[in-house]
Amino acid sequence: MFRIRRIYDDILPVNREAIRTVQGILAGQFPAIGAEEAAALPERLTNPAKHGFRAILYVAEKGNTGVRGFALCYHEPDLPFLYLDFLASPLGRTSRGVGGALYARVRRDARELGCVGVFFECLPDDPALSPNPETRRQNVARLRFYERFGARPIAGTRYETPVKPGTTDPPYLVFDDLGSGVPLKRDHARQVVRAILERKYRGVCPPDYVQMVVDSFQGDPVRLRPPRFGERVTVEPPSPTEVPTDHRIALTVTDNHAIHHVHEQGYVESPVRISAIVRELRKTVLFDERPPRRYSERHVTALHDPGWVSYFRRVCERVGPEHSVYPYVFPLRNAARPPRELEVRAGYYCMDTFTPLTGNAYPAARRAVDCALTAAEAILDGTRLAYALVRPPGHHAEQRVFGGFCYFNNTAIAAHFLSLHARVAILDLDYHHGNGQQQIFYERSDILTVSIHGHPNFAFPYFSGFADERGSGNGHGFNLNLPLPEEVDGGAYRAALGRALDRVARFRPQVLVVALGLDTVRNDPTGTWSLTAADLHANGRLVGGLGCPVLVVQEGGYRVRNLGSNARSFLSGLWSGAFGRTAPRPNHSARGSAGERIPLEVEEPALAPQAAAIAGEGAVGAHHPVARHHHRDPVVAVGPGHRPHRARLAEEAGLVGVAPRLAVRDRPQHLPDPLLERGAAQVERDLEPLELAREVAVELPP
Ligand SMILES: [Zn+2]
Repeated sequence: MFRIRRIYDDILPVNREAIRTVQGILAGQFPAIGAEEAAALPERLTNPAKHGFRAILYVAEKGNTGVRGFALCYHEPDLPFLYLDFLASPLGRTSRGVGGALYARVRRDARELGCVGVFFECLPDDPALSPNPETRRQNVARLRFYERFGARPIAGTRYETPVKPGTTDPPYLVFDDLGSGVPLKRDHARQVVRAILERKYRGVCPPDYVQMVVDSFQGDPVRLRPPRFGERVTVEPPSPTEVPTDHRIALTVTDNHAIHHVHEQGYVESPVRISAIVRELRKTVLFDERPPRRYSERHVTALHDPGWVSYFRRVCERVGPEHSVYPYVFPLRNAARPPRELEVRAGYYCMDTFTPLTGNAYPAARRAVDCALTAAEAILDGTRLAYALVRPPGHHAEQRVFGGFCYFNNTAIAAHFLSLHARVAILDLDYHHGNGQQQIFYERSDILTVSIHGHPNFAFPYFSGFADERGSGNGHGFNLNLPLPEEVDGGAYRAALGRALDRVARFRPQVLVVALGLDTVRNDPTGTWSLTAADLHANGRLVGGLGCPVLVVQEGGYRVRNLGSNARSFLSGLWSGAFGRTAPRPNHSARGSAGERIPLEVEEPALAPQAAAIAGEGAVGAHHPVARHHHRDPVVAVGPGHRPHRARLAEEAGLVGVAPRLAVRDRPQHLPDPLLERGAAQVERDLEPLELAREVAVELPP
């Protein structure tokens, strides 16, 4: 099998390599035009304004053997259409099915971009236009290939008039309506043709030639020539829940963490955190799970003091699985002489007295590093978004210091690993200051560290996270701390996040690493702020909007009750921001049909019967086929303002992202006023946090 991947820029080595191959194919197979196109390709991808179209490049790759084919398109969002410029394979290396798979992907994305269709040129199969039988044979094969998808030349125009009289094989303009059956209007076609000739053939087609071709589009709607080859592939429209592999979030979940379980009362960093999150993520279609791989210890010792690393391993072996060591002697005055006794020495490497060295802490922490590196490697393979779901967390671990539930700094290790290939910024969104990354990278200017956190005057770790800590030496100006007060809501947080992202954007990172703490939400046992799931979604969206690849590494977050939905909120927001579209519904509900039972999530068990009654009266989710078939826009029916319904509404509006087209119907007199006639951004803000305690099944009306 091969994978199809969209390439956004030429920053990562894997992308540069793919672009080089594409350039080679262009120059080799299209000698007349290819060399110039090839040279311009990297700039076309990163600087659309200069070329008038937004270039989109897809490559099909097989294993490690490189590019087996590519498609290069131009997107015009205003008209809106996609122009397919090249679909080609390396000579002699054509893999079966590559062309069809690439073209299917082009059509799919054209649909998602809301295009009326795909336009492209094909050389003619009319003997009068293509006199050479060998050339004509190839032209026929190409037209036959596209006709199977329903794409046919536009008939009855002068598009195939050679610019230089006497030239053979002038191209047809071919149109694919993407299976919509919607005829192409004449005026629309004229605008498209003008855009193609004026922008793509800038300097080639004189103005009077362009005008002559545009004027030749007379029929309304535009007529396509009848099918000539009699084959048709049935192309299923993509399911609304289907996400192409390269647009999924690479997810690596640690598989060796449960052995590290501190049973002390109040030790909230517990194994259930991982299962709570994983359960929620698996309900969505956004993730592509990748098992953790093993990485050498040199990745750890690249940042952590080898003395600490080997001490940590040895002391864990010594205490055994049933016991743990709490530091109790702190030899601060004489760092040159670590205590000989292993158990006494703990305080030599420690910043607090509540993080024990358990028998299994080392293997669990080591596996978390493996996971963070596996996810980082997915980014180097060209994946846009990756998430390392790990524990124990790492962002408090400094070069030779553990504490705050952290032993190895997973985030910093992954960031350093990525920094060997790209310019990396770290954004720490945990409630607590990311003192680990700050200390580790304090003197480096090649990795920017930014942290938004509770002010150290009242929040752990108390000794760092102040605004005047800006880095030192070469690193001066490359650390930004945004300490916030004890009470912070979503709006105040977003203001700080805006400042953080401004700084990150000025740094122009090629990869962003996010240390994701979910302890910023209301009622987290270790925090004081009041962010909601909708806030997390909005924050994720802002981060995704930066437009560079993002690796998310899990840090804190201890309110197990909504930990999973909060992680999902942030990550689906990140996805929406990164790909500029709304995240599809989870599988189970997208397949819902009238009369089927779908889960209704209810916060207060006592409200469940009422919620069920209201849903039975006609509550229909935006994703539900009833809504999709009967209303042009998604509809959310809202009863008399019960919290369960508002929670549902927030899910529809914020998490799923139907937001821009959200319509609120049904009994408007019962709606809280502010919900009426508003866009989703405001709706999100007005909602209570989603704290979904349990699910009840509700019968929908047929
Ligand atoms: Zn934290």
